[in-house]
Amino acid sequence: MKRKTLIAGNWKMNGLLEDGTALAKAVALEAKKRGSQGCEFLVCPPFTLLTSVKKALRGSKVGLGAQDCHVAASGAHTGDISPQMLKDLGCSYVIVGHSERRADHHETSALVCQKAESAHQAGLKVIICVGETESERDSGKTLAVCQKQIKESVPQDATAENTVIAYEPVWAIGTGKTPTVADVAEVHGAIRAEISKKFGKAVAAKMRILYGGSVKPSNAPQLLSLEDVDGGLVGGASLKAADFMGIADAVCQK
Ligand code: PEP
Repeated sequence: MKRKTLIAGNWKMNGLLEDGTALAKAVALEAKKRGSQGCEFLVCPPFTLLTSVKKALRGSKVGLGAQDCHVAASGAHTGDISPQMLKDLGCSYVIVGHSERRADHHETSALVCQKAESAHQAGLKVIICVGETESERDSGKTLAVCQKQIKESVPQDATAENTVIAYEPVWAIGTGKTPTVADVAEVHGAIRAEISKKFGKAVAAKMRILYGGSVKPSNAPQLLSLEDVDGGLVGGASLKAADFMGIADAVCQK
């Protein structure tokens, strides 16, 4: 089953108007030079940069995503952003359940599931993040944790078209540490099996599962070329156009 590789950049809380727009322009230029390479490209800047990044990406095939959304479409939720607002700004994707939100904002899988469903209703695709902490890995709970997060975070209306899963071991995010290739293969296989249990074989065969956690151009060929790995969710390395596109070069067929 051929699934289109997705290389997605999570800028997190980085970028002001000038450097954020310059980064988006550089990514768009590099993406144009290369053609699509059979890959889909996506950048997810902070909310404050969505409009200017959208303009900077104009004419390129790089998509726009956000890093989180509220469950509700509108209402008394001071400081929050709804999926409809993101759609209105030109986003096609939203990340939900990133481990930094699960940790910093105490987001549960039940809430992540509601956010994903609301995003779908607004016409957005979602990237749902799952992954174990270091102590969960050390105590042999990696597969059980990821399976439970998939079970509880992926809404019933998920399809291979509106949903992407990102496996991001929490201990690998921003640390320079990565799991072994065998570990990544094992977890991605287990996640696909869990999707199959919940949605059937056909959906599982088509749904994309990204790896995220300290991906850079030098480790991308090993980590992202595995059978069940359909691209990467890239944090730190997405803040430099050359590194972000270097990751794409390593895995997207010419
Ligand atoms: C992330 O934040 O989703 C991520 C994978 O970060 P990094 O690439 O910096 O580890």
